[in-house]
Amino acid sequence: MPTDLAEGEATITRCPSCGAQLLGDYCHACGQRRVDGRMSVGAFVGDVARRVFRFDKAFAMTFWRMLRDPGQLVRDYLAGRRQGYLDPIQYFISSVFVQVCVAAITRQFAPLFNRMSAVNWLESLTGVVAVKILVIFWMGTLWRLLFRPIRYNLAEIYVFAAFAFATTGILWAVLPLVDLIVPYPLGANSLLVAIASALVEAAYLTYAVRAFSQLPFGTCLFRVTSVLALGYLLLAGIVGLEHTAHWVLPPLQN
Ligand SMILES: [Zn+2]
Repeated sequence: MPTDLAEGEATITRCPSCGAQLLGDYCHACGQRRVDGRMSVGAFVGDVARRVFRFDKAFAMTFWRMLRDPGQLVRDYLAGRRQGYLDPIQYFISSVFVQVCVAAITRQFAPLFNRMSAVNWLESLTGVVAVKILVIFWMGTLWRLLFRPIRYNLAEIYVFAAFAFATTGILWAVLPLVDLIVPYPLGANSLLVAIASALVEAAYLTYAVRAFSQLPFGTCLFRVTSVLALGYLLLAGIVGLEHTAHWVLPPLQN
């Protein structure tokens, strides 16, 4: 039943987007929600609020399920049970958004707490979303090359990696907030920042890989640490090369 319809207005029978006959509240051909009558402020606010709320709820649900049982969420996604949570790339982009927001909040609050060290935690994370997405494919491909998993193909590994790296990113965003409230300025030591971030990543990924693959714990730990170590070393090599080129070569702009 269309609920936004004002009294006396005619109900539309065809989808305004694709022209297909409408059978319910959603177009069966293109998926657009039924839109009846003219736009009103109430309908507009309601529509935006509904989308934001649905998105926020789905984001919270995705994060919660990735903490409780990451294996089940990824298996559900691969089996086509996709209602009520975000798809891997939406979730990944949202996780980067969370990190950017927390980084901004930390910069605002660090002086108030007299704790500038908290700013250091997300320093290395403020990169381009596209580059972060490439890490999923980079690590997923390495995993496939190194271990030849039989149960899952490359695309399924990418799906898992997107969900898992996104969750790691949200966990990383907790670290500067912890730094604001603990007695010792943890972020002041850059080695500690690097080690703690790597530990959070390796620990969560091992947990998630174990839940998804159901391989023994030792195997998961070994594979995760190998792929992360090799992956980041190779990336550092490539990025280092690019930085070197940046210093050696003249700037491209006129
Ligand atoms: Zn349609």
